[in-house]
Amino acid sequence: MPVNIAACQSILSELNSKNVTLVAVSKTKPAEDITAMYALGQRDFGENYVQELAEKQAILPHDIRWHFIGHLQSNKVKYIAPFVHLIHGVDSAKLLQEINKQALKNNRVIDCLLQVHIAQEETKFGFNEMELNAIKAQLPGLPNVRVCGLMGMASLTDNREKIKAEFLALKKIFDAFNQWPVTIRSANTILSMGMSGDYQLAIACGSNMVRIGSLLFGTRNYGAV
Ligand SMILES: *Cc1c(COP(=O)(O)O)cnc(C)c1O
Repeated sequence: MPVNIAACQSILSELNSKNVTLVAVSKTKPAEDITAMYALGQRDFGENYVQELAEKQAILPHDIRWHFIGHLQSNKVKYIAPFVHLIHGVDSAKLLQEINKQALKNNRVIDCLLQVHIAQEETKFGFNEMELNAIKAQLPGLPNVRVCGLMGMASLTDNREKIKAEFLALKKIFDAFNQWPVTIRSANTILSMGMSGDYQLAIACGSNMVRIGSLLFGTRNYGAV
């Protein structure tokens, strides 16, 4: 299925008017689909798999801002450390330490979001509030990572009230995060929440960055990867 240009344009103008950043989630989609979105002016793209991201980065325009939105294993940080724009799903101290190490090797500071566990499912990754505070205490010792905000994923459910409650819980944690000293976080902060099915609700609950895939690129065919 080709990129839905009309849908892309209407989502882009909707998000622009609300000052919400669109991360176009291009996982499993061919480079041509990214090029089509790029031609509309889109520069932020999100990928979930390290190898796929590295392959696309090598062949696509170098002014694309690549977001890593998947579950990142520590031993794979080195493959994306030279170029990644923002790592959304930081969910352990070990991973943050490895990102710091690889950023130093590449002589750069890597921007990260801390993933917060808001869904009821056991399988979703992320910190709780107490763990976030433990991470906070470690940040002065990690000068090559810059924590820019939080990321979360709601439960996979049709129950809008439940999704809304989870988003509002994350917004509350984000408000507390914004009280952290600017010496250990970026000045402007990011709340990455909302996907194709729930991005409008997420924005209403305070999100300023949404990760949208299937609404832009069509449904994914994992078998083709
Ligand atoms: C795949 C993915 C998305 C995009 O999902 P859609 O429902 O296709 O918009 C957003 N965030 C994360 C973390 C993802 O893995």
